[in-house]
Amino acid sequence: MKNYITTPIYYVNGEAHIGHAYTTFIADTIARHSRLKGNETFFLTGTDEHGQKIEESAKKAGKETQAFADEISKTFKDLWDGFDISYDKFIRTTDIDHKRGVQKAFMKMYDNGDIYKGNYEGHYCISCETFFPETQLIDGEFCPDCGKPTNIVKEESYFFKLSEYEDKLLKYYEDNQDFILPKSRRNEVINFVKGGLHDLSITRTTFEWGVKLPESMNDDKHVMYVWLDALLNYITALGYGKDEENMDFWPANIHMVGKDILRFHAIYWPAFLMSLGLPLPKHIAAHGWWTRDGEKMSKSKGNVVLPQVVADAYGLENLRYFMLREVPFGQDGDFSQRAFIDRINSDLSNDLGNLLNRIIGMSGKYSEFKIDSVDVIKYHSKELDAMASVIDNLEPFLDDLRTHKYLEELWKLFSIGNKAIEEHAPWVKIKEDKKDEALATVALIANILAKASIMLNCIMPNTTKTISEALHFEINTSSYQKLILDKKLLDVFIIEKVPPLFPRVEGPLMDEAPEANKEEVPLKKMETKKESTVEEDNLITIDQFFETSLRIGTILEAEVVPKSKKLYKLSVDIGEKEPRQIVAGIREFYEVAELVNTQVCVVSNLKPAKLMGLLSEGMLLAAKDEDGLSLMRPEHKRKAGSSVG
Ligand SMILES: [Zn+2]
Repeated sequence: MKNYITTPIYYVNGEAHIGHAYTTFIADTIARHSRLKGNETFFLTGTDEHGQKIEESAKKAGKETQAFADEISKTFKDLWDGFDISYDKFIRTTDIDHKRGVQKAFMKMYDNGDIYKGNYEGHYCISCETFFPETQLIDGEFCPDCGKPTNIVKEESYFFKLSEYEDKLLKYYEDNQDFILPKSRRNEVINFVKGGLHDLSITRTTFEWGVKLPESMNDDKHVMYVWLDALLNYITALGYGKDEENMDFWPANIHMVGKDILRFHAIYWPAFLMSLGLPLPKHIAAHGWWTRDGEKMSKSKGNVVLPQVVADAYGLENLRYFMLREVPFGQDGDFSQRAFIDRINSDLSNDLGNLLNRIIGMSGKYSEFKIDSVDVIKYHSKELDAMASVIDNLEPFLDDLRTHKYLEELWKLFSIGNKAIEEHAPWVKIKEDKKDEALATVALIANILAKASIMLNCIMPNTTKTISEALHFEINTSSYQKLILDKKLLDVFIIEKVPPLFPRVEGPLMDEAPEANKEEVPLKKMETKKESTVEEDNLITIDQFFETSLRIGTILEAEVVPKSKKLYKLSVDIGEKEPRQIVAGIREFYEVAELVNTQVCVVSNLKPAKLMGLLSEGMLLAAKDEDGLSLMRPEHKRKAGSSVG
């Protein structure tokens, strides 16, 4: 069987956050398990690099658009490489082969009569690169998706006759009940189509960063609309429009997407494919969002969780396990360090890690590490039956992408093992001179760990490799056949000692998220105490003092914060690559001219806070009494970034 799995191509407008990692982990999991089963598997990921937004971001960054796209695309590729993501191809929409494939597809749809030229006038959101009908706008002006103001844009455009595909799409959803996963999202798509489909504007003349129309169209002021270009990556990656080298992998088994782009994948994409005369993908699977400690993640809140940071702190495979175990597929998930640590300590360390340690210990004591399955059936048929029924029911959960359920069920194997140890108490059997029975229990556990490792391999490839090395077998298609499908047991072997797999985690290993919406002005008041009666308890050590990082900063810019009487937005050089943005409540005491190009003393290791919607990444030291406020400044000019203390 051929199995084609894709992630969305990620937009190169910023770095990867844990939402990207989640999508990629699920797709990687499905691909790995598919390969283990012996299926020919093609796993695609990549980056989406065209559109006005990229053109503008590059300009803002002062870079050539292609150089900008190269740079960000590489951060994604490097991240996935470092994460051992087993993709077969990393596609970029700026690849020449992709662009040719898109032009070829455009020509084919045009020749079929599905594309015509017309005029488009509408409310356009630059940020979302989407036109919205007036009825959908918020207050008649703002984008319903991102809330930013829209512009009225009138332009010549080519249109795709999406309106002609309404009935065909509805019939397809009806005939293929599991086309959209989770099924709870089907209705939302069906209702959208039933509400009436407008023809889709698929080219733009207002920017240049995109795939040009085919030369034979003789119309070079148009570039393709980013969605047409982007969606076609799923077939150009297989050689569509070139050599068709891997087109036998089409149709895709699963397109993994975030819920925000479900509509494009479940409506536009199937219509494009119907126009091209190609079969439709089997599943479009939409997952939910990730929040952090219950709050939406955003750059301005400073609470975005970067996958590399979490992987560095807690371990890559622990992160994979946590994300795939924590959230029912399709629902929103919450990243909290508390929940993560609980998962590591209870599921991984207690349930799985301990079981391995225990049999290594017992086999060492009772049989010089020799494990022999010979008597397992005699003493443990009850457990073997229970294991078989767990394993037989596992794979459908993975087919439906219900990884949380898959793992929950898989963990039942470890409870079977732990329960067997309690019931059979091998240490008692040894004393009672029932060595066979004791060793059978140890061998049962070894078999449980082996079978569980095979099924867990797609989620924790490296950890399960360590377990399989301890148990002297390899995880591959033939051991899957033997131990899972044929329900056989391990051969005789000498168990290998390995270090404990999942050390317990006692406390958070990363900084906590900054408190959101802190409203008070972060201005340190060094008020002189009326009576200086310092109590012993209030003394701090020199180390405590140096926990506060104080630096000399040069104020580069100062701007009034609109709607605030007190605040200035300052740009302050503290000797780092970029100046800090600091929001300070000193407007009543200083004019702009008294600030710019002067020096101040900055607390530089404060958690960022938000004031009047602005991020403040530090605090100025000042002294205040009833007559006013004075900033603490160095007596003579010092280098920006010099430490104070
Ligand atoms: Zn928008």
